[in-house]
Amino acid sequence: MSKVLFFSRKFAKSLLTKIKTKKVAYMLVSLLLIFAFSAKTYANWNEFSRNQEVTSCNTLISGCSLAYIEKTSIEQKFQGESVLGLVATNKVITFSVETRGAITSDLNEFISLALESLNSPNGWSRAGLSFSRVQSGGNFTLVLATPPEVAAFSIGCDSYYSCNAGRYVIINEDRWKQGTTTWTGSLRDYRHMVVNHETGHFLGHGHRNCQSPGSPAPVMQQQSIDLQGCTANPWPLDYEISATSI
Ligand SMILES: [Zn+2]
Repeated sequence: MSKVLFFSRKFAKSLLTKIKTKKVAYMLVSLLLIFAFSAKTYANWNEFSRNQEVTSCNTLISGCSLAYIEKTSIEQKFQGESVLGLVATNKVITFSVETRGAITSDLNEFISLALESLNSPNGWSRAGLSFSRVQSGGNFTLVLATPPEVAAFSIGCDSYYSCNAGRYVIINEDRWKQGTTTWTGSLRDYRHMVVNHETGHFLGHGHRNCQSPGSPAPVMQQQSIDLQGCTANPWPLDYEISATSI
């Protein structure tokens, strides 16, 4: 009987030791996993927080095109990275090109400059958008029109300025050729500005005013009329990019 008891106790003891060893092993594995996960998370955060000037996810991962990452806080950046690091948020907007009236400008130059404005790393592409020209239809129509043809689009359009009317982003050929007297930058930059401004309306933006004289004007300011003390600027400002949701 005492022998049976002895072996039972021995068996129970070895079982207990085995369980304890297993428990310790599980604990060690769990700790190791927690440590590895924390280290990876910190590494991601640290890597991302160093990318102060990221304006394209091309710089983060290969195989994705234009995307914008907020620069305002580390939390936003980290959130951005967790999404953009895996999947690019790149929305393609298509547009076709038409002319109205007897246009005398070089249409190929108009198209290539407009594409440059829209897909510039300084432009609306910072909001995760890219613009692709199609032969007809598309999300909007970019029109180069003579002054009377601009006015004919809508009651809100006139023969002097460019205009947006529904799906039509209309550039006044006179302004395309000459800019305006208020504009202090180059004609090339005026052209970028007017394309970005009118496309900005199509993207849902209203007008803005100069926030602080001496600083670049928001692209949605009516810079063709008055710079209001701001400097001429063809590109959307950070807060205009942030306000873009499409
Ligand atoms: Zn406007």
